[in-house]
Amino acid sequence: RIAVVGSVNMDLLTATERLPAPGESILGSAFAATPGGKGANQAIAAARAGGRVTFIGAVGSDTFALELRQTLVEAEVDTTHLREVDGPSGIATITVDAAGQNSIVVVPGANSTLTALEPADLEAIAAADVLLCQLEIPVATVLAAVAHAAEHDTVVMLNPSPAQPLPRELVALVDVLVVNETEAAQLGPDVISAVPHLVTTLGGSGAEYTNPGGAAVHADAPSVEVVDTTGAGDAFAGALAVSWMRGPETALPFATAAGALATTRRGASTSSPTHTAIETALHR
Ligand code: ADP
Repeated sequence: RIAVVGSVNMDLLTATERLPAPGESILGSAFAATPGGKGANQAIAAARAGGRVTFIGAVGSDTFALELRQTLVEAEVDTTHLREVDGPSGIATITVDAAGQNSIVVVPGANSTLTALEPADLEAIAAADVLLCQLEIPVATVLAAVAHAAEHDTVVMLNPSPAQPLPRELVALVDVLVVNETEAAQLGPDVISAVPHLVTTLGGSGAEYTNPGGAAVHADAPSVEVVDTTGAGDAFAGALAVSWMRGPETALPFATAAGALATTRRGASTSSPTHTAIETALHR
């Protein structure tokens, strides 16, 4: 069982020839609205990878809310703890030009209202094997969730993204830190060496597990035809949470295969692979 406390957004993606200058209006060539947010993406990835997943988060009272909830439900994520609050859902407006450069504005909306956890949320965290968090909701809420997990022997897995300085008391409660190379560099050696289990993703080079005892496990990414790396990190984190209780020797290859498979399809949450697809890739 996995509990995810995190963000859910609607990603509003516009394709243009070039990015507009300040004050300028230009025509775009394509538009798509797709459910995203690291919390929801990782919850969906974990469910698709075979986990029983509860998502704790918030959507707004706008027209996006229904679709965001529906996407979680369709992935068989438990949305009992997903609240609906007055105001806009979290959104990200993303403009991508012909060269692949982007400019992004994220408005946290409902995600920023997730300032308190209800008794029922805390029960779900205590009942889980693994709590999976990111940093797209107020960090005080992450800290409250993590502290409750630690009290109830729920494994605390943190993907500190977007990277930001972490409160010392948060770092002290993390069991498993999941970072890409950029995040590892931004957090620095003090934070990195303070956690019992460190998992670093290495893009096309797979992933690495280390602990302060000197143990190390490396998993190569299966070679795949990369179409879109968006959501690969989220697919990795979700699959890692699902397989973590089987130990890093098993979990690392499983999560690495999930991340690699996610790059073979466009989009974020909907591109994450099923348990069967991951197992097939592992035994190929
Ligand atoms: P992020 O997407 O968060 O920056 P990475 O780029 O490290 O993180 O990718 C996360 C995981 O996705 C990797 O560990 C790997 O499993 C998979 N992945 C990413 N890029 C590739 C690639 N080019 N080929 C195969 N797998 C990849």
